[in-house]
Amino acid sequence: MPPLPALVKPVLPTIVHLDADAFFVSVEQALNPVLRGKKVAVGGSQRGIISSASYEARACGVYTPMPTARAVRVCPDLILVAHTSGRYGEYSRRLFDLCESLTPVVERRSIDEGFLDVGPCGFKSQAEVETAVRALQERIWQELQITVSFGLARNKLVAGIASKLRKPRGFVLVPPGGEAEFLAPLEVGRLPGIGVKTEAALKARGLLRVRDLLARNEAELHALFGEGWRGVIATARGEDLSVVETAEEDAKSYSQQETFPTDIGDLAEIERLAKHMIDELMPKIRADGKRVRTLTVKVRYPGMENESAGQSLAAAADLEAPFYPLVRPLLRKAWSRRQPLRLISVRFSGVEEGPAQMEMFIEADEKRRRLASVLDQLNQRATKPVVQRGHQLGHRQE
Ligand SMILES: [Mg+2]
Repeated sequence: MPPLPALVKPVLPTIVHLDADAFFVSVEQALNPVLRGKKVAVGGSQRGIISSASYEARACGVYTPMPTARAVRVCPDLILVAHTSGRYGEYSRRLFDLCESLTPVVERRSIDEGFLDVGPCGFKSQAEVETAVRALQERIWQELQITVSFGLARNKLVAGIASKLRKPRGFVLVPPGGEAEFLAPLEVGRLPGIGVKTEAALKARGLLRVRDLLARNEAELHALFGEGWRGVIATARGEDLSVVETAEEDAKSYSQQETFPTDIGDLAEIERLAKHMIDELMPKIRADGKRVRTLTVKVRYPGMENESAGQSLAAAADLEAPFYPLVRPLLRKAWSRRQPLRLISVRFSGVEEGPAQMEMFIEADEKRRRLASVLDQLNQRATKPVVQRGHQLGHRQE
């Protein structure tokens, strides 16, 4: 029986993507307002690169990443600010703290970019969602003096595209059901997974806009994208079922993820990054006095789909080495598609108390050793064993 209309909950644009505008520069401007409205870039001075440029500097031809030397040539009155480590992390933490004051479901994708799911907030209408997210945007400005652009939609794919559309201080809401219509007029390069090279190749074939992709038939699409064409078309229609994943910060698991600046297709490189994550997580596990048993590797494709694979050790460990040999087989298992990756994450679960248990083992070993020597001494004096170990009992003749 179809549900009664009165009981149908409205589908709301509960997925929010936020992306700070020229984040490093914004932080420098927040700390030093004299820099506001000027051509400012953050970057290394000598052989460095520009890591962030104000919109005024961008208008002058400065982009990221660009060698600093060239940036100064194209924009001679550029104000160059040295990259100050530590400063941006603090602002990032405060930015996401404000997000968490709106909803607990926050996925940090990078230092200045993340997804929120405001579903748990219980908003009843699109207008309520919009009001709450606009209030968050304003609060971030009031408290941090940095500007952030927002995209709101029914899913992560569309929200992620929407937030980039009207920077800076953007606010783009895509009503549920309007995804395909929203994407249709955009340039194909706006779609995740379509990089600069693919975009150029598509444009050379007359495919400039997302709607041009949808106008092609299956055979043409197959010729263009191979087996992945269905995924491309789903993306072009704005279809995406991935969920906003909150980092697990409790003791149940330890995880780390990295979103790549450009998609990576090299297994050896991905393996190296995954092992590096193990190297970063394991000292935390040791510091917490824990041991872990299971390693799970997750990969994400440019279209935001995830795949994962996990494996457990015979016994929990707090060392890196036992997990290294699992990385490559797990990556091969998880990475089933012939597509470069957008992100990998490494997660340790099956957390157990570490040193306490280790001490118990050591103590138990010591007791066992002492017991063994007592048993040996007793048995040496007798013709028949007087004391037997548990696993020998089954053989005892009564
Ligand atoms: Mg940004």
